[in-house]
Amino acid sequence: MKPQTIPTLAECLAAADQTRALVIGENCYGDLPGLLQKHYGRDTVYLAADGSTWKAAGEKAKAVLEEAGIRIAGVHIFPAEPRLHAEYYNIKTLVQAISSVPDHERLVPVAAGAGTVNDLLKRAAFELKLPYLCLPTAASVDGYTAFGASILMDGFKQTIPCTAPLSLAADTAVLAGAPAYLSSSGFGDLASKIIAGSDWILADKAGRLGAPEAHAINETAWNMTQPGLMDYLRRSVNAAKGDKDAVNALFEALAITGFSMQHMKTSRPVSGSEHLFSHVWEMEDLSVNGVPVTHGHKVTIGTLAATAFTGIFFESPDGPPPPPSGYRRPSREERMAEASRAFAGSRAHDGVVKTAAEKLMDQKTADAINDAFRASWKEIREKILAQILPYGELRALLQDSGCPLAPEEIGLTRERTIATARRAQMIRTKYSVLDLAWDMGSFDTVIKKMEASSIYLR
Ligand SMILES: [Zn+2]
Repeated sequence: MKPQTIPTLAECLAAADQTRALVIGENCYGDLPGLLQKHYGRDTVYLAADGSTWKAAGEKAKAVLEEAGIRIAGVHIFPAEPRLHAEYYNIKTLVQAISSVPDHERLVPVAAGAGTVNDLLKRAAFELKLPYLCLPTAASVDGYTAFGASILMDGFKQTIPCTAPLSLAADTAVLAGAPAYLSSSGFGDLASKIIAGSDWILADKAGRLGAPEAHAINETAWNMTQPGLMDYLRRSVNAAKGDKDAVNALFEALAITGFSMQHMKTSRPVSGSEHLFSHVWEMEDLSVNGVPVTHGHKVTIGTLAATAFTGIFFESPDGPPPPPSGYRRPSREERMAEASRAFAGSRAHDGVVKTAAEKLMDQKTADAINDAFRASWKEIREKILAQILPYGELRALLQDSGCPLAPEEIGLTRERTIATARRAQMIRTKYSVLDLAWDMGSFDTVIKKMEASSIYLR
């Protein structure tokens, strides 16, 4: 790979093709009238928030806008309790509310909220063909600047298409005042980019050998996410303690990773096998005492699990862990039956069985991948070990940032977390270390070593 250069925020914005402006700073809502004039050419807004984010940001923004002569055409505030869900009917509510405003074609919908409010209004604005503006209230996810919305449909989370915000204004004082669990969630989502990077290195190589959905490394998107990542993580570590500089760095890093998605039109730069673990738990509605676990906290445990898996797979300089005795690559029918058993009773069953069949490579491609990775094992292993953090270092970093460390903290057990690897490998075609281990026959051995370990996920 060529030497890596860290692009400036302006360069990242230029590479993102939907978002035009990102303002971050204390009391930066003073920039809102200027943003509306420059990027939207409109002087009327519709505000959406929930009870908590209205108090944290909505009221403040409304006052600034009114003072500047911007017309507030309407306000929709979802209740603060129970916690707002990203359900499709909430999008319908917003679409109806906004479209009932006279001349609504000329207003700008403004979301004052965290991930959920933002996702709901992002999709509502898209359906109404209106460019929207985002006022994030917590550095909790990378999704603010993504081009899709994560919505619960037919019982599980799906990313549905919609345009990213044309501009964002993130008030550092608001972000720093967010509940600590939201900032630590954002930290976990940022830490996941370490594994997204190692999986991308593997996918890049496997893709050249014929693996499906194994995108080649896109230099611009890679440089937006990877070279600055460790520095951003170290600067963000006190975000959950309300440190303004830390939360500023965390939000900026999350926003930029979102721009890398806008640039590539896939989530490849920001999400790998660690997100596959979290997607399985999303399907299972993982919650603690009835409260849903945040995306970032699921991703945190997913990142620990994926780091353990990757570490074991690349443990030896001589090659991957050997397959169990008597190992044989399953036929398509056997593979589909295995996926069917693993997702029996799940709403996702039919889709996963189809995916498991689709992603099973023919013998020739599987042999080519096996031969090439064995032939260049030392080189690829060095690259991966340079990309990931040793498990202990990652765990310490997550601990310092207030993230969950034990599976039990998010309603899982150690056994269930490790067992998730098998299901995580089946749900998407997107190539990751889970697929490589499976294609090389090492999957079961890695899982056994993970189970027997006195360090991983303890
Ligand atoms: Zn994420």
